[in-house]
Amino acid sequence: MSESDDLAARRRMVDEQLRERDITDARVLEAMMTVPRHLFIPPESRHFAYSDGPLPIGQRQTISQPYIVALMTQLLELVGTETVLEVGTGSGYQAAVLARLARQVYTVERSAELAGLARQVLERLEVENVAVSQGDGSRGLPEFAPYQGVVVTAAAPRVPRPLLDQLDLEGRLVLPVGGRDGQILERWRRDGKDFRVERIVPVAFVPLIGEHGWADDEGECRWI
Ligand code: SAM
Repeated sequence: MSESDDLAARRRMVDEQLRERDITDARVLEAMMTVPRHLFIPPESRHFAYSDGPLPIGQRQTISQPYIVALMTQLLELVGTETVLEVGTGSGYQAAVLARLARQVYTVERSAELAGLARQVLERLEVENVAVSQGDGSRGLPEFAPYQGVVVTAAAPRVPRPLLDQLDLEGRLVLPVGGRDGQILERWRRDGKDFRVERIVPVAFVPLIGEHGWADDEGECRWI
């Protein structure tokens, strides 16, 4: 596809998959319009880059459906001044979207291979406000806390306590919580010492594997 084909496909994605649903934050729509999603997708599936679904990225992992990326991002209510933590870098696509909307993004990936590939694409795109690290993101990244926004792009059996503790006083945490076969997307808000949770929509994510997630990754690979 030529650059203008990619742009047209991205415009259709934004108009038909995002605007026509409930993505109303103009900054989120603009970021989704700008980030070249196809560059985060392995060459063999690149022609599906702007389709309305998740895609495999290797290591039995996925890049999420564009709508889910936009929804989770919108739920963070970013204005541009925030430090954001993403758990589950995967392809690096959501981190690149967040980078356009926040001051600084830290993203953690369990797979060293995926973390390396994501770093390469982000470097190629000259995204300078994303730092990719490799490790168990279910523990958060205490060295850069507090975060005004935290997003977890893998399914947790329950909300990891370290992620709540690393939230800033009015911070938002967005994550899928539930069983391995299906979860509810939740948004947690910190209000001083208290937390409020809203349940947004049913989803199906790959599991968060780690100390505050699931114990192993023997389960089926699911495409979300
Ligand atoms: N946000 C990604 C993107 O834009 O491509 C999609 C993420 S994919 C649905 C979920 C990712 O979470 C996988 O790459 C998986 O390896 C990663 N993951 C699972 N458990 C993790 C953990 N404890 N810490 C960090 N990453 C984890």
